[in-house]
Order: sequence, then C-alpha cells, then structure tokens
Amino acid sequence: MEDCVFCKIIGGKIPSAKIYEDEKVISFLDIMPANKGHCLVVPKIHAQTLVEMGDEDLSAAIKATKKVARALSLSFGNGSFNIVMNNGKEAGQLVNHAHIHLIPRFQKDRLRIKWSHLKYEGDEIKDYAEKIKKFI
Ligand code: 5GP
Ligand code: ZN
Repeated sequence: MEDCVFCKIIGGKIPSAKIYEDEKVISFLDIMPANKGHCLVVPKIHAQTLVEMGDEDLSAAIKATKKVARALSLSFGNGSFNIVMNNGKEAGQLVNHAHIHLIPRFQKDRLRIKWSHLKYEGDEIKDYAEKIKKFI
C-alpha cells in the first residue's frame, strides 16, 4: 500500500523507534503517545481492521503484544497497561492499517478510558444477542 504510513515504516522507508520485529509483526513507539512508552503492534501484511486480518497474523500480533507488554512492565512500567484497537472511522481509526495500541498506565496519569453505561429495555438484550449470533 503506497500511501500507508505503517507500510512505509515496515518497508524501512520512514524511521521508527522499533522495539520488536518477527516474520509477521513489528512493534514501535507511537509518535504521539497517550503515555510515554505507548507502543503499537502492527501486522506486516496490510489489512484495515481486525476482521480483515488473517488468523496467523492475528495470533502473531497478540503474542507480540504480550511480549511487549511484559517488556514494558519490566523496564519502567508497573504491570498496568491498556490494550486498545480502533477499528473503522467511527471507532476513531486514523491510520487504516490494523494496529494494536499498548499503553502503559501510571498512578495519577491523565488518560481516561471510560464510557457512560446505557440500559437495555425489556427483551432488547436477547434481540441483540440473536441478531449477532446468526452471523457467528
Ligand atoms: P489510530 O487512531 O489509527 O488507532 O491510531 C494511529 C496512531 O498512529 C496514532 O496514535 C498516531 O500517533 C500514530 N502514528 C501516526 N503516524 C505515525 C508515524 O509516522 N509514526 C509513528 N511511530 N506513529 C504514528
Ligand atoms: Zn499498510
């Protein structure tokens, strides 16, 4: 993908602060971190979202995420981190190459990953479950 910034990083055309690389994935620091040490784990094959990723790439990506999370915790972290993956425009995905955010958390940091809670009415929760189950 010629215009994809992460494909350019994978191809070595633009620099990155690389932490980890194997046959299927690469991990580097996010250039505009939510907290310092914020890493991205990125499959080498271009796919836009998690759903479009091949199972082997997905498996490699989540294993690499664990590896990097462990290294973050052992280096300067404290074992607390959030994993975030924005999939699609409405979810806030800005770079259209699938990636997992790994964000170290610290006491009194200013990051907030919270949502307000809605309520289902009557049997609505069952209707939602039925609708989704049909496509599993
Ligand atoms: P998204 O909103 O798509 O989930 O997040 C994309 C992330 O990629 C952002 O947090 C942004 O800071 C990061 N990013 C965008 N361009 C670059 C770049 O050229 N290098 C690095 N290291 N990170 C980038
Ligand atoms: Zn790409």
